[in-house]
Amino acid sequence: MKDLRFDNRFVRELPGDPEQGRHVRQVHGACYSRVEPTPVRAPRLLAWSREVADLLGFDAADVHGQQFADVFGGNALLPGMEPYAACYGGHQFGNWAGQLGDGRAITLGETIDPQGQRWELQLKGAGPTPYSRRADGRAVLRSSLREFLCSEAMHHLGVPTTRALSLVATGEEVVRDMFYDGRARPEPGAVVCRVAPSFIRFGNFEIFAARGEEPLLERLIDFTIERDFPELVETEPDRARRRVRWFEEVCRRTAVLMAHWMRVGFVHGVMNTDNMSILGLTIDYGPYGWIDNFDPEWTPNTTDAGGRRYRFGHQPRIAHWNLWQLANAVYPVIREVEPLERALVAYAELHETEYRRMMQGKLGLATWQAGEAGDDGLLDTLHRLLERGEVDMTIFFRRLADLDLDAPALGLFEEAFYDPTRRAAVEPELLGWLHDYAARARSEGMPAALRRAGMDGVNPLYVPRNYLAQQAIDAAEAGELGELETLFEVLRQPYVEQPGRERFAARRPDWARNRAGCSMLSCSS
Ligand code: AMP
Ligand code: MG
Repeated sequence: MKDLRFDNRFVRELPGDPEQGRHVRQVHGACYSRVEPTPVRAPRLLAWSREVADLLGFDAADVHGQQFADVFGGNALLPGMEPYAACYGGHQFGNWAGQLGDGRAITLGETIDPQGQRWELQLKGAGPTPYSRRADGRAVLRSSLREFLCSEAMHHLGVPTTRALSLVATGEEVVRDMFYDGRARPEPGAVVCRVAPSFIRFGNFEIFAARGEEPLLERLIDFTIERDFPELVETEPDRARRRVRWFEEVCRRTAVLMAHWMRVGFVHGVMNTDNMSILGLTIDYGPYGWIDNFDPEWTPNTTDAGGRRYRFGHQPRIAHWNLWQLANAVYPVIREVEPLERALVAYAELHETEYRRMMQGKLGLATWQAGEAGDDGLLDTLHRLLERGEVDMTIFFRRLADLDLDAPALGLFEEAFYDPTRRAAVEPELLGWLHDYAARARSEGMPAALRRAGMDGVNPLYVPRNYLAQQAIDAAEAGELGELETLFEVLRQPYVEQPGRERFAARRPDWARNRAGCSMLSCSS
């Protein structure tokens, strides 16, 4: 297998935990603990991403060798790897939770790819670390497959995300109580190798602020800026101003990310501050879900079913709240309230702008006429109708591109409805809306082909619907990988119609409406 070039700045430039070993502990005055993956019984490659392998410089022969499964299953290290688990804290469901840290993720090292780009390689499910608390450090196949599949799907959808190189079966069983109801059972274990320029989270800064470790907080901020935001170093020589620019940039990226999630119908499910990437990437795929019937109130996470804190329509506001926590955390170093507050206000404005821009794209409009009498009103009305009528979000927007603006009709949307009664209740109004929309779109005089191409480029045809992922999991657990391979392949081109693969664009079947894994997911993974 090819050697990779490593340049492990995180462990080289930041202080580590002087204590050795995997025993669970509070780690003070350090950004990480050195810890190696715990070997597994029989690592076997189940799936891999050719795009990520390409990025890193691996070819198919590298990937199919046993050494690849050994390294990315946690049984071997490549020369230059210096594994560690990071220390971070976080606000979970609105409350400060203290030290969390990489309890089952282990970063192997920072590799520099042939293009000079830095990539952190991180195994998830690699065994216990000092941050494992009461858990086992492992991950089950179903959750690992979901993370592997969705990170790559998100990338192809054009949504900022961490990537996934590989999915490796461990040959070991992991015991999980999926619904916390006392019915624990053994499940197959797996390890995902995640790949991102950085896995630093809001929580990495929060932990030092909470502990009053300000010198370390300052070092981590400056390290993050220098390693992960080099453009700020080039454009802003003043250190204090640069830190403010950095916070503004984090706000900006987070705003863009939230608008993307709303565009594609993604619900993260656990937007705790330890699951917020400092790079504005989608990170930590757990009990996430995809919107089938449009419903801003929906959350896939059974752990959040009571408060629905992380429901679809609430995500941009939660991100704002999380940015507030980050602002509080970095304040002891930035020491000025005003610029932080301004950046937080700017977040809301930026999100609004980005959100409108993306909705404009979804509707295929060349301009956006703000206001209730304008396009904001048009969009609100549509959203209300989609919700009331239980209409599939993905199918509706995709089909909207085919609407004949001179003769709007409902026939196109036949497959988007889930419930005949709810359909009947909104059809007259929806037809009225289509007429209003058609008039509005006609008024812009955009050539039909152009309008259609624009819409098809932002309204996906294929998304990793929960039930599709679950079917791939059921098959994989039975030893059959074809379903995962086909789904993974389809999701590489989510905007392109793929003849013969219509079933991957279909609405959720009735059997999946209330099935575990399809509409409800727990944090148990
Ligand atoms: P999550 O809700 O998955 O983002 O995880 C929250 C925290 O729990 C993180 O610190 C994880 O590393 C840790 N954690 C989750 N599952 C496990 C596990 N099976 N073993 C050890 N730590 C875990
Ligand atoms: Mg997490």
